[in-house]
Amino acid sequence: MTRQCARPGCSAVAAATLAYDYRQRTSWLDPLAAEPHPMAYDLCDGHADALTVPRGWRLEDRREPRRITTSLEDAFAY
Ligand SMILES: [Zn+2]
Repeated sequence: MTRQCARPGCSAVAAATLAYDYRQRTSWLDPLAAEPHPMAYDLCDGHADALTVPRGWRLEDRREPRRITTSLEDAFAY
């Protein structure tokens, strides 16, 4: 099942999940969660890449690095 980006007016397919912790003033971008989470937002690639956090907040991008060629070993492991 695919989910849509949570941003109003955006109908792109969600590619990342944004979670946040007000007490730690930290937000995290993770690969799209398998299950929708009530404390998290799903975002498309474009909105995830354009994400900014409020002043004083930290953003940790924990998505897999994309557009980086995997090593030959990984490529032939399948
Ligand atoms: Zn979007």
